[in-house]
Amino acid sequence: MKGYVTRLTHIILCSPSLSVMLESTTHWHVQSAWSKAGVGTNIVLELKTPSPLESDHDRHANNNVSKKRSRARIAFDMGATPCFDDAIPAKYVFLSHGHIDHVGALFSHARAHAVSCGGEAPTYFVPAQLLPQIEQCRNAMSLIDSFTIAKKSDDKYSTNNVKSEGRENLLKMKLIPVKPGDEFPLKGITYGSKTNFFMRAFEVDHAGHAALGYIIGSRTKAAGLKPEYQHLNGAAIRELVQSGITVQADPVEKIEVAYSGDTCARGLMKKECLRSPKDDVLDSEDQHLLKSAAYLDQAFQAEMLICELTFLDSSEDETQRRRSEDRGHLHITDLHDIFASHGQLNKHSDARCILFYHLSGRYAPASRALDYICAGLPLEIRNSCHVAIKSLFSDREKLSNDGLAALIESNGCISIEDYLRWRENNKSADEVCRN
Ligand SMILES: [Zn+2]
Ligand SMILES: [Zn+2]
Repeated sequence: MKGYVTRLTHIILCSPSLSVMLESTTHWHVQSAWSKAGVGTNIVLELKTPSPLESDHDRHANNNVSKKRSRARIAFDMGATPCFDDAIPAKYVFLSHGHIDHVGALFSHARAHAVSCGGEAPTYFVPAQLLPQIEQCRNAMSLIDSFTIAKKSDDKYSTNNVKSEGRENLLKMKLIPVKPGDEFPLKGITYGSKTNFFMRAFEVDHAGHAALGYIIGSRTKAAGLKPEYQHLNGAAIRELVQSGITVQADPVEKIEVAYSGDTCARGLMKKECLRSPKDDVLDSEDQHLLKSAAYLDQAFQAEMLICELTFLDSSEDETQRRRSEDRGHLHITDLHDIFASHGQLNKHSDARCILFYHLSGRYAPASRALDYICAGLPLEIRNSCHVAIKSLFSDREKLSNDGLAALIESNGCISIEDYLRWRENNKSADEVCRN
Protein backbone atom coordinates (compact mmCIF):
# COMPACT_ATOMS: atom_id res chain seq x y z
CA MET A 1 0.00 0.00 0.00
CA LYS A 2 2.78 2.37 0.96
CA GLY A 3 4.58 1.70 -2.32
CA TYR A 4 1.41 2.42 -4.26
CA VAL A 5 0.86 5.73 -2.47
CA THR A 6 4.46 6.82 -3.00
CA ARG A 7 4.34 5.97 -6.67
CA LEU A 8 1.03 7.70 -7.10
CA THR A 9 2.31 10.67 -5.20
CA HIS A 10 5.25 10.88 -7.49
CA ILE A 11 3.23 10.80 -10.69
CA ILE A 12 0.64 13.26 -9.42
CA LEU A 13 3.23 15.89 -8.66
CA CYS A 14 5.20 15.37 -11.79
CA SER A 15 2.35 15.62 -14.29
CA PRO A 16 0.28 18.48 -15.65
CA SER A 17 -2.82 19.14 -13.55
CA LEU A 18 -6.24 18.19 -14.91
CA SER A 19 -8.35 21.32 -14.61
CA VAL A 20 -12.13 21.30 -14.43
CA MET A 21 -14.49 24.16 -14.87
CA LEU A 22 -17.55 23.95 -12.69
CA GLU A 23 -20.82 25.64 -13.39
CA SER A 24 -23.92 26.04 -11.33
CA THR A 25 -26.31 23.39 -12.64
CA THR A 26 -26.26 19.78 -13.72
CA HIS A 27 -28.15 18.54 -16.77
CA TRP A 28 -29.39 15.44 -14.89
CA HIS A 29 -32.00 14.75 -12.28
CA VAL A 30 -32.51 11.66 -10.13
CA GLN A 31 -35.40 9.70 -11.59
CA SER A 32 -35.29 7.02 -8.90
CA ALA A 33 -32.88 5.95 -6.18
CA TRP A 34 -33.56 2.71 -4.38
CA SER A 35 -30.88 1.12 -2.26
CA LYS A 36 -30.44 -1.08 0.80
CA ALA A 37 -27.09 -2.63 1.72
CA GLY A 38 -26.94 -6.30 0.73
CA VAL A 39 -30.41 -6.20 -0.85
CA GLY A 40 -30.30 -4.03 -3.94
CA THR A 41 -28.97 -0.78 -5.39
CA ASN A 42 -30.14 0.99 -8.51
CA ILE A 43 -29.89 4.74 -9.15
CA VAL A 44 -31.48 6.07 -12.34
CA LEU A 45 -30.77 9.54 -13.75
CA GLU A 46 -32.68 11.25 -16.50
CA LEU A 47 -31.46 14.07 -18.68
CA LYS A 48 -33.41 17.26 -18.04
CA THR A 49 -35.50 18.70 -20.85
CA PRO A 50 -33.80 21.62 -22.59
CA SER A 51 -35.43 24.97 -21.82
CA PRO A 52 -37.91 26.32 -24.45
CA LEU A 53 -35.22 28.70 -25.68
CA GLU A 54 -32.71 25.87 -26.16
CA SER A 55 -35.38 23.69 -27.78
CA ASP A 56 -36.25 26.44 -30.27
CA HIS A 57 -32.59 26.78 -31.15
CA ASP A 58 -32.29 23.04 -31.58
CA ARG A 59 -35.35 22.73 -33.75
CA HIS A 60 -33.59 25.03 -36.19
CA ALA A 61 -30.19 23.43 -35.77
CA ASN A 62 -31.10 19.78 -35.54
CA ASN A 63 -34.46 19.24 -37.14
CA ASN A 64 -35.98 18.40 -33.77
CA VAL A 65 -33.64 15.45 -33.22
CA SER A 66 -32.34 16.73 -29.90
CA LYS A 67 -35.84 16.98 -28.44
CA LYS A 68 -36.31 13.29 -29.10
CA ARG A 69 -33.03 12.55 -27.29
CA SER A 70 -33.60 14.84 -24.36
CA ARG A 71 -35.11 12.22 -22.04
CA ALA A 72 -32.15 9.86 -22.09
CA ARG A 73 -31.57 7.80 -18.96
CA ILE A 74 -28.51 6.22 -17.40
CA ALA A 75 -28.23 3.94 -14.36
CA PHE A 76 -25.66 3.30 -11.68
CA ASP A 77 -25.68 -0.39 -10.74
CA MET A 78 -28.46 -2.80 -11.53
CA GLY A 79 -29.39 -4.60 -8.34
CA ALA A 80 -32.90 -5.72 -7.44
CA THR A 81 -35.18 -2.70 -7.16
CA PRO A 82 -38.92 -2.08 -6.89
CA CYS A 83 -38.31 0.84 -9.29
CA PHE A 84 -37.15 -1.42 -12.12
CA ASP A 85 -39.55 0.22 -14.59
CA ASP A 86 -37.61 3.46 -14.19
CA ALA A 87 -34.36 1.68 -15.06
CA ILE A 88 -35.55 -0.14 -18.19
CA PRO A 89 -34.97 2.75 -20.66
CA ALA A 90 -31.39 3.34 -19.43
CA LYS A 91 -29.05 3.10 -22.42
CA TYR A 92 -25.90 3.29 -20.32
CA VAL A 93 -25.45 1.28 -17.13
CA PHE A 94 -22.38 1.75 -14.90
CA LEU A 95 -21.62 -1.26 -12.73
CA SER A 96 -19.51 -0.44 -9.71
CA HIS A 97 -18.65 -4.03 -8.74
CA GLY A 98 -19.92 -7.59 -8.91
CA HIS A 99 -21.88 -8.05 -5.66
CA ILE A 100 -25.32 -9.48 -6.33
CA ASP A 101 -27.10 -6.54 -4.73
CA HIS A 102 -25.52 -4.37 -7.48
CA VAL A 103 -25.75 -6.66 -10.51
CA GLY A 104 -28.66 -9.03 -9.74
CA ALA A 105 -31.05 -7.44 -12.28
CA LEU A 106 -28.43 -6.98 -15.00
CA PHE A 107 -29.73 -9.57 -17.46
CA SER A 108 -33.36 -8.73 -16.70
CA HIS A 109 -32.47 -5.19 -17.71
CA ALA A 110 -30.99 -6.26 -21.05
CA ARG A 111 -34.07 -8.34 -21.82
CA ALA A 112 -36.59 -5.75 -20.61
CA HIS A 113 -34.83 -2.95 -22.52
CA ALA A 114 -34.97 -4.98 -25.76
CA VAL A 115 -38.66 -5.77 -25.25
CA SER A 116 -39.75 -2.31 -24.12
CA CYS A 117 -37.41 0.05 -25.97
CA GLY A 118 -35.97 -1.89 -28.91
CA GLY A 119 -33.23 -0.21 -30.88
CA GLU A 120 -29.58 -0.57 -30.02
CA ALA A 121 -28.51 -2.78 -27.12
CA PRO A 122 -27.69 -0.84 -23.93
CA THR A 123 -24.03 -0.31 -23.02
CA TYR A 124 -22.84 -1.79 -19.74
CA PHE A 125 -19.58 -0.49 -18.29
CA VAL A 126 -18.08 -3.14 -16.02
CA PRO A 127 -14.86 -3.36 -13.99
CA ALA A 128 -12.42 -4.96 -16.45
CA GLN A 129 -11.53 -7.89 -14.16
CA LEU A 130 -15.19 -8.97 -14.09
CA LEU A 131 -15.79 -9.04 -17.83
CA PRO A 132 -15.11 -12.79 -18.36
CA GLN A 133 -17.45 -13.76 -15.51
CA ILE A 134 -20.21 -11.46 -16.72
CA GLU A 135 -19.88 -12.79 -20.26
CA GLN A 136 -20.13 -16.35 -18.92
CA CYS A 137 -23.24 -15.43 -16.94
CA ARG A 138 -24.80 -13.76 -19.97
CA ASN A 139 -24.19 -16.85 -22.08
CA ALA A 140 -25.58 -19.14 -19.37
CA MET A 141 -28.68 -16.94 -18.98
CA SER A 142 -29.18 -16.97 -22.75
CA LEU A 143 -28.96 -20.76 -22.79
CA ILE A 144 -31.43 -21.11 -19.93
CA ASP A 145 -33.76 -18.66 -21.60
CA SER A 146 -33.69 -20.49 -24.92
CA PHE A 147 -33.80 -24.00 -23.46
CA THR A 148 -36.59 -26.12 -24.85
CA ILE A 149 -37.69 -29.76 -24.57
CA ALA A 150 -37.87 -31.39 -27.98
CA LYS A 151 -41.12 -33.10 -28.89
CA LYS A 152 -41.08 -36.82 -29.63
CA SER A 153 -42.94 -38.15 -32.62
CA ASP A 154 -46.01 -38.97 -30.46
CA ASP A 155 -46.20 -35.29 -29.60
CA LYS A 156 -45.31 -35.78 -25.96
CA TYR A 157 -42.50 -33.97 -24.25
CA SER A 158 -39.62 -36.03 -22.99
CA THR A 159 -37.05 -35.01 -20.44
CA ASN A 160 -34.60 -37.34 -22.15
CA ASN A 161 -34.89 -35.43 -25.34
CA VAL A 162 -33.92 -31.90 -24.46
CA LYS A 163 -32.28 -29.30 -26.58
CA SER A 164 -31.12 -25.78 -26.29
CA GLU A 165 -31.22 -23.34 -29.14
CA GLY A 166 -27.71 -22.37 -28.10
CA ARG A 167 -28.39 -18.71 -28.71
CA GLU A 168 -25.67 -17.30 -26.50
CA ASN A 169 -26.28 -13.84 -27.90
CA LEU A 170 -29.97 -13.80 -27.20
CA LEU A 171 -29.31 -11.12 -24.59
CA LYS A 172 -28.18 -8.05 -26.47
CA MET A 173 -25.63 -6.24 -24.34
CA LYS A 174 -22.64 -4.09 -25.18
CA LEU A 175 -20.23 -4.99 -22.40
CA ILE A 176 -17.34 -2.55 -22.06
CA PRO A 177 -14.45 -3.37 -19.69
CA VAL A 178 -13.33 -0.36 -17.65
CA LYS A 179 -10.13 0.31 -15.72
CA PRO A 180 -9.49 3.11 -13.20
CA GLY A 181 -8.42 6.19 -15.16
CA ASP A 182 -10.44 5.32 -18.27
CA GLU A 183 -12.67 7.82 -20.05
CA PHE A 184 -15.43 6.98 -22.56
CA PRO A 185 -17.82 9.22 -24.49
CA LEU A 186 -21.54 8.61 -23.93
CA LYS A 187 -22.40 8.54 -27.62
CA GLY A 188 -25.98 9.36 -28.58
CA ILE A 189 -26.74 11.43 -25.49
CA THR A 190 -26.83 15.16 -26.09
CA TYR A 191 -28.38 18.13 -24.38
CA GLY A 192 -29.49 20.62 -26.98
CA SER A 193 -27.15 20.86 -29.93
CA LYS A 194 -24.00 21.89 -28.08
CA THR A 195 -23.54 19.60 -25.08
CA ASN A 196 -22.45 16.01 -25.01
CA PHE A 197 -21.34 13.75 -22.18
CA PHE A 198 -18.53 11.45 -21.08
CA MET A 199 -17.81 9.05 -18.26
CA ARG A 200 -14.60 8.65 -16.23
CA ALA A 201 -13.78 5.85 -13.81
CA PHE A 202 -11.77 5.91 -10.60
CA GLU A 203 -10.54 3.25 -8.23
CA VAL A 204 -12.18 2.79 -4.83
CA ASP A 205 -11.53 0.30 -2.02
CA HIS A 206 -14.22 -2.33 -1.39
CA ALA A 207 -12.44 -4.92 0.72
CA GLY A 208 -10.44 -6.28 -2.20
CA HIS A 209 -13.27 -6.57 -4.73
CA ALA A 210 -12.78 -5.10 -8.19
CA ALA A 211 -14.68 -1.87 -7.62
CA LEU A 212 -15.00 1.44 -9.43
CA GLY A 213 -16.55 4.84 -8.92
CA TYR A 214 -17.72 6.91 -11.89
CA ILE A 215 -18.11 10.52 -12.84
CA ILE A 216 -20.32 11.90 -15.59
CA GLY A 217 -19.12 15.09 -17.21
CA SER A 218 -20.28 17.31 -20.03
CA ARG A 219 -18.56 19.27 -22.76
CA THR A 220 -20.36 22.24 -24.23
CA LYS A 221 -19.18 23.91 -27.40
CA ALA A 222 -18.01 27.42 -26.67
CA ALA A 223 -18.74 30.34 -28.96
CA GLY A 224 -15.92 32.45 -30.36
CA LEU A 225 -12.21 32.01 -30.91
CA LYS A 226 -9.34 30.90 -28.71
CA PRO A 227 -7.88 33.92 -26.87
CA GLU A 228 -4.65 33.81 -28.89
CA TYR A 229 -6.55 34.26 -32.19
CA GLN A 230 -9.10 36.85 -31.11
CA HIS A 231 -7.08 39.81 -32.41
CA LEU A 232 -6.77 38.39 -35.96
CA ASN A 233 -8.87 39.53 -38.92
CA GLY A 234 -11.10 37.26 -41.04
CA ALA A 235 -8.47 36.56 -43.70
CA ALA A 236 -5.88 35.49 -41.12
CA ILE A 237 -8.41 33.23 -39.39
CA ARG A 238 -9.38 31.65 -42.72
CA GLU A 239 -5.75 30.96 -43.45
CA LEU A 240 -5.27 29.24 -40.09
CA VAL A 241 -8.39 27.12 -40.58
CA GLN A 242 -7.23 26.11 -44.07
CA SER A 243 -3.90 24.99 -42.63
CA GLY A 244 -5.73 22.68 -40.22
CA ILE A 245 -5.40 24.73 -37.02
CA THR A 246 -8.34 24.73 -34.62
CA VAL A 247 -9.20 28.34 -33.89
CA GLN A 248 -12.50 27.83 -32.08
CA ALA A 249 -12.44 28.18 -28.29
CA ASP A 250 -12.14 24.93 -26.34
CA PRO A 251 -15.38 23.35 -25.13
CA VAL A 252 -16.41 24.07 -21.55
CA GLU A 253 -16.02 20.98 -19.40
CA LYS A 254 -18.15 20.39 -16.35
CA ILE A 255 -18.13 17.53 -13.86
CA GLU A 256 -21.81 16.97 -13.21
CA VAL A 257 -22.42 13.73 -11.34
CA ALA A 258 -20.23 11.34 -9.36
CA TYR A 259 -21.08 7.88 -8.05
CA SER A 260 -18.85 6.27 -5.43
CA GLY A 261 -19.99 2.63 -5.67
CA ASP A 262 -19.29 0.56 -2.54
CA THR A 263 -16.12 1.63 -0.78
CA CYS A 264 -14.53 2.11 2.61
CA ALA A 265 -13.13 5.47 3.69
CA ARG A 266 -9.64 4.68 2.42
CA GLY A 267 -10.98 4.45 -1.13
CA LEU A 268 -12.37 7.99 -1.07
CA MET A 269 -9.60 9.86 0.75
CA LYS A 270 -7.69 12.23 -1.49
CA LYS A 271 -4.49 10.58 -2.69
CA GLU A 272 -1.88 12.72 -0.96
CA CYS A 273 1.47 13.21 -2.59
CA LEU A 274 5.11 13.94 -1.88
CA ARG A 275 7.46 15.34 -4.44
CA SER A 276 9.90 12.89 -5.93
CA PRO A 277 13.09 13.77 -7.80
CA LYS A 278 12.53 11.01 -10.38
CA ASP A 279 10.02 12.68 -12.59
CA ASP A 280 10.76 11.26 -16.01
CA VAL A 281 8.50 9.41 -18.40
CA LEU A 282 5.28 7.91 -17.09
CA ASP A 283 4.25 4.52 -18.37
CA SER A 284 0.67 3.70 -19.24
CA GLU A 285 -0.08 2.14 -15.85
CA ASP A 286 1.20 5.25 -14.10
CA GLN A 287 -0.94 7.43 -16.34
CA HIS A 288 -3.99 5.43 -15.33
CA LEU A 289 -3.15 5.74 -11.64
CA LEU A 290 -2.65 9.45 -12.04
CA LYS A 291 -5.91 9.92 -13.86
CA SER A 292 -7.79 7.74 -11.39
CA ALA A 293 -6.56 9.89 -8.49
CA ALA A 294 -7.49 13.08 -10.36
CA TYR A 295 -10.95 11.71 -11.21
CA LEU A 296 -11.54 10.85 -7.55
CA ASP A 297 -10.81 14.46 -6.65
CA GLN A 298 -13.11 15.62 -9.45
CA ALA A 299 -15.86 13.41 -7.98
CA PHE A 300 -15.84 15.59 -4.88
CA GLN A 301 -16.21 18.70 -7.04
CA ALA A 302 -19.25 17.30 -8.87
CA GLU A 303 -22.47 19.15 -8.35
CA MET A 304 -24.24 15.90 -7.59
CA LEU A 305 -22.22 13.42 -5.55
CA ILE A 306 -23.97 10.07 -5.03
CA CYS A 307 -22.07 8.55 -2.14
CA GLU A 308 -22.41 5.26 -0.34
CA LEU A 309 -23.16 5.35 3.39
CA THR A 310 -23.81 2.05 5.15
CA PHE A 311 -23.19 2.40 8.89
CA LEU A 312 -24.85 5.29 10.69
CA ASP A 313 -24.45 5.09 14.45
CA SER A 314 -21.88 7.71 15.40
CA SER A 315 -21.81 6.47 19.00
CA GLU A 316 -20.37 3.11 17.97
CA ASP A 317 -16.97 2.27 19.35
CA GLU A 318 -13.72 1.99 17.45
CA THR A 319 -14.08 -1.79 16.96
CA GLN A 320 -17.40 -1.35 15.18
CA ARG A 321 -15.94 1.36 12.98
CA ARG A 322 -12.98 -0.83 12.09
CA ARG A 323 -15.45 -3.53 11.14
CA SER A 324 -17.07 -1.22 8.57
CA GLU A 325 -13.66 -0.63 7.02
CA ASP A 326 -12.93 -4.37 6.91
CA ARG A 327 -16.23 -4.90 5.09
CA GLY A 328 -15.35 -2.18 2.62
CA HIS A 329 -18.09 0.27 3.57
CA LEU A 330 -18.42 3.81 4.88
CA HIS A 331 -19.26 4.66 8.47
CA ILE A 332 -20.85 8.04 9.06
CA THR A 333 -17.90 9.07 11.22
CA ASP A 334 -15.65 8.71 8.13
CA LEU A 335 -17.36 11.54 6.25
CA HIS A 336 -15.65 14.44 7.98
CA ASP A 337 -12.14 13.30 7.09
CA ILE A 338 -13.07 12.28 3.55
CA PHE A 339 -14.67 15.62 2.65
CA ALA A 340 -11.94 17.55 4.47
CA SER A 341 -9.24 15.70 2.50
CA HIS A 342 -10.76 17.05 -0.74
CA GLY A 343 -11.08 20.55 0.71
CA GLN A 344 -14.87 20.34 0.53
CA LEU A 345 -15.86 21.15 4.09
CA ASN A 346 -15.49 24.91 3.85
CA LYS A 347 -16.81 25.33 0.32
CA HIS A 348 -20.44 26.34 0.32
CA SER A 349 -22.51 25.99 -2.83
CA ASP A 350 -26.29 26.26 -3.03
CA ALA A 351 -26.26 24.21 -6.23
CA ARG A 352 -24.49 21.27 -4.65
CA CYS A 353 -26.27 18.04 -3.84
CA ILE A 354 -24.84 15.06 -1.96
CA LEU A 355 -27.04 11.99 -2.13
CA PHE A 356 -26.30 9.16 0.28
CA TYR A 357 -27.46 5.65 -0.54
CA HIS A 358 -26.73 2.04 0.59
CA LEU A 359 -28.06 2.37 4.15
CA SER A 360 -28.01 -0.80 6.22
CA GLY A 361 -31.49 -2.13 7.00
CA ARG A 362 -30.45 -2.50 10.65
CA TYR A 363 -31.22 1.23 11.14
CA ALA A 364 -34.84 1.00 9.92
CA PRO A 365 -37.39 2.50 10.10
CA ALA A 366 -36.64 5.56 7.99
CA SER A 367 -37.03 8.15 10.76
CA ARG A 368 -34.57 6.27 12.98
CA ALA A 369 -31.98 6.12 10.17
CA LEU A 370 -32.50 9.80 9.40
CA ASP A 371 -32.02 10.72 13.06
CA TYR A 372 -28.70 8.88 13.07
CA ILE A 373 -27.70 10.66 9.87
CA CYS A 374 -28.65 14.10 11.20
CA ALA A 375 -26.59 13.44 14.34
CA GLY A 376 -23.54 12.17 12.46
CA LEU A 377 -23.23 14.34 9.34
CA PRO A 378 -20.57 17.05 9.33
CA LEU A 379 -22.47 20.30 9.89
CA GLU A 380 -20.67 21.97 7.00
CA ILE A 381 -22.33 19.74 4.40
CA ARG A 382 -25.57 18.85 6.19
CA ASN A 383 -27.85 21.22 4.29
CA SER A 384 -26.66 19.91 0.91
CA CYS A 385 -27.48 16.31 1.80
CA HIS A 386 -30.23 14.02 0.58
CA VAL A 387 -30.78 10.36 1.39
CA ALA A 388 -32.20 7.50 -0.71
CA ILE A 389 -34.55 6.49 2.10
CA LYS A 390 -37.49 4.70 0.50
CA SER A 391 -36.08 1.23 1.20
CA LEU A 392 -36.20 1.83 4.97
CA PHE A 393 -39.68 3.32 5.07
CA SER A 394 -41.92 1.17 7.29
CA ASP A 395 -45.60 0.43 6.70
CA ARG A 396 -46.38 2.38 9.83
CA GLU A 397 -44.51 5.40 8.49
CA LYS A 398 -46.28 5.09 5.15
CA LEU A 399 -49.71 5.03 6.80
CA SER A 400 -49.03 7.72 9.38
CA ASN A 401 -50.45 11.16 8.68
CA ASP A 402 -47.61 12.92 10.48
CA GLY A 403 -46.39 14.41 7.18
CA LEU A 404 -43.11 12.46 6.88
CA ALA A 405 -44.30 10.45 3.86
CA ALA A 406 -45.05 13.68 2.01
CA LEU A 407 -41.40 14.74 2.34
CA ILE A 408 -40.18 11.79 0.33
CA GLU A 409 -39.82 12.83 -3.26
CA SER A 410 -41.17 10.68 -6.07
CA ASN A 411 -37.61 9.46 -6.70
CA GLY A 412 -37.41 7.93 -3.20
CA CYS A 413 -35.11 10.58 -1.69
CA ILE A 414 -35.51 13.00 1.18
CA SER A 415 -33.70 16.26 1.85
CA ILE A 416 -32.00 16.42 5.25
CA GLU A 417 -32.93 20.09 5.52
CA ASP A 418 -36.62 19.20 5.01
CA TYR A 419 -36.37 16.33 7.49
CA LEU A 420 -34.83 18.54 10.17
CA ARG A 421 -37.59 21.10 9.70
CA TRP A 422 -40.23 18.38 9.92
CA ARG A 423 -38.63 16.88 13.02
CA GLU A 424 -38.51 20.26 14.69
CA ASN A 425 -42.25 20.62 14.17
CA ASN A 426 -43.33 17.07 14.83
CA LYS A 427 -41.20 15.44 17.45
CA SER A 428 -41.12 16.24 21.10
CA ALA A 429 -37.77 17.30 22.56
CA ASP A 430 -37.62 13.97 24.39
CA GLU A 431 -37.86 11.96 21.21
CA VAL A 432 -35.16 14.02 19.56
CA CYS A 433 -32.81 13.49 22.52
CA ARG A 434 -33.53 9.78 22.73
CA ASN A 435 -32.42 9.30 19.11
ZN1 LIG B 1 -23.49 -3.02 -1.79
ZN1 LIG C 1 -20.49 -4.56 -2.36
